[in-house]
Amino acid sequence: MSLRPTVDFLLYDWLNAPSLNERERFADHSRETFDAVLDTCERIAREKYAPFNRLVDTQEPHFDGDKVVLPQATHDAQKAYAESGMLSAAQDYDVGGMQLPYTVEAAANAFFAMASVSIGSGMLTTGNANLLMVHGTELQKQVFALNEFAGRFSGTMCLSEPQAGSSLSDVATRAVPDGADFADDPLGPRYRLKGNKMWISAGEHELTENIIHLVLAKIPDEHGKLVPGTRGISLFIVPKKMVDTEGQLTGERNDVALAGLNHKCGWRGTTNTLLNFGEGKYPVKGEAGAVGYLVGQAGKGLHCMFHMMNEARIGVGMAATMLGMAGYHASLDYAKNRPQGRPMGPAGKDPAQPPVRIIEHADVKRMLLAQKSYCEGALALELYCARLVDEQHTADAATADDARLLLEVLTPIAKSWPSEWCLEANSLAIQIHGGYGYTRDFPVEQYWRDNRLNMIHEGTHGIQAMDLLGRKVLMEGGKGLSLLAGRINDTLQRAIHIPEFAAHANALGQALAQVGAATKAAWATGEPTDALANAVPYLQAFGHMVLAWVWLDVALAAHGASESAARTGRLAAMRFFFHYELPKIGAWLQVVSSRDQTCAALPEDAF
Ligand SMILES: Cc1cc2nc3c(=O)[nH]c(=O)nc-3n(C[C@H](O)[C@H](O)[C@H](O)COP(=O)(O)OP(=O)(O)OC[C@H]3O[C@@H](n4cnc5c(N)ncnc54)[C@H](O)[C@@H]3O)c2cc1C
Repeated sequence: MSLRPTVDFLLYDWLNAPSLNERERFADHSRETFDAVLDTCERIAREKYAPFNRLVDTQEPHFDGDKVVLPQATHDAQKAYAESGMLSAAQDYDVGGMQLPYTVEAAANAFFAMASVSIGSGMLTTGNANLLMVHGTELQKQVFALNEFAGRFSGTMCLSEPQAGSSLSDVATRAVPDGADFADDPLGPRYRLKGNKMWISAGEHELTENIIHLVLAKIPDEHGKLVPGTRGISLFIVPKKMVDTEGQLTGERNDVALAGLNHKCGWRGTTNTLLNFGEGKYPVKGEAGAVGYLVGQAGKGLHCMFHMMNEARIGVGMAATMLGMAGYHASLDYAKNRPQGRPMGPAGKDPAQPPVRIIEHADVKRMLLAQKSYCEGALALELYCARLVDEQHTADAATADDARLLLEVLTPIAKSWPSEWCLEANSLAIQIHGGYGYTRDFPVEQYWRDNRLNMIHEGTHGIQAMDLLGRKVLMEGGKGLSLLAGRINDTLQRAIHIPEFAAHANALGQALAQVGAATKAAWATGEPTDALANAVPYLQAFGHMVLAWVWLDVALAAHGASESAARTGRLAAMRFFFHYELPKIGAWLQVVSSRDQTCAALPEDAF
């Protein structure tokens, strides 16, 4: 079974991606150029990624006392990816890019996430370089970002610290001006950083010539004190190895040291590190302190970092989706081949009959259709968000602003919904395999372990929920939520006239009204502690409403297509979502609307 027909359907029949080519930026593109990119990525993923997914899980990265060792397959896969030009695909022609729409880039990267998510396809590197293209100086772009796009350097994002995960205001890494001439460095105001960064993905390896860390740190005030809160946070480029203004390595190591590798439950093909900055292991010009160049304005670091985090959140949602999809395909294949049990006839089971394949049992079909509706729905949502990114960057001003606001509201869902429900899909994939699913002889347990990360990093589920209910649905006078309601209404207006979809359109309309009413009820007292006590159930209900909308819209596109098994499957996945999933929102919203304090009010000693 191939992912490609689903991607093609969503890109071409649903999102009409080639219509982007009417924009000046994408004028040289056509369906043929999009197909060529998809073909190349599908092939590299099949040849260089998929065969090594288990290998990178069992041959975890290790430190040999001198350097971090990764399997040769990881080197080969990442080399092939860089050579394909995908790292710079979305960039301008004059810096070596293809000016590819992000919608197509995201779709193409889906093949790698499905083949081997932890070998990775440079999400951190492109995110890091994209941030510098927006907030960096011309020289910072030349020296750091362009070398990342070329595959010479790779990138990280260094936010978390051992004591500061969800709460970045507690970042304690310090950055002090490096000498009297610190402001005159052509690479940007030069500082010396000291502190520890925890959980840094791809923080140490030998896959590229250099690693460009983007580090959040605080510049102390004149009394040597760190400004409390996020206001005091600045952003710095800290290369692992020092570079000159031509982007060449000077031969000197920067003072960034690997303190240890984290040994993870899954996603083992990517290193995860504790890094010590400025402890003096690699003094620069005889002094301890990691050299870092300020990006943007001092004190505005988190604002700059959000540029990378928003992209990363769509990337995380896509990764979760494709892990779910990998499990769906594996369990579908298994269910078609595993004989077990006999059908129940009017006279009971007939033991003289040969066993049937498990795909013939209604409960196995239920588990397969659940996975299909979660994963194909999530893929549609991620591609829709990617399309909004293109709108934001290339549409007329009013459309672009609408896209920006819609993305604000949808990003927590794009990150969280697949993290929860495509993980559930992985659990169902294990269930379909029975005992075999619980062994390492089949790939599904690894997909689950790999996917379990996604509810944790890039803002945990709880933090995303508070972002949605505490900020996103309220911002700019609730305009983002109104815009989303407008889009949902457009879809249901189109669906309500089709007899087959009328009941679903009504159900979606009710869900929208329920979410709107719950949003108001949650904030009725104006107390954040009341409103946010049940932020996660709100996130779950909101996400299910969004997915029901996406499915109905996808079903409208499928409805117009000629009869095929794929069409039947898509319409069934939509119905599954409306019949088995959407009704769940009532229970979630009940506790939100009543501002239920069962959990929040329970004293600690009662647990
Ligand atoms: C494999 C992996 C890769 C990672 N990669 C990176 C990376 O490249 N760069 C980087 O900077 N970081 C990275 N992280 C760090 C990740 O972003 C953090 O783990 C995450 O933000 C949570 O922080 P924490 O682990 O300190 O947990 P905590 O913040 O201690 O949270 C623990 C629990 O408490 C909840 N909680 C915390 N605060 C609140 C609150 N105010 N209200 C309600 N609930 C709350 C959380 O939701 C969570 O369930 C990575 C983590 C992992 C595991």
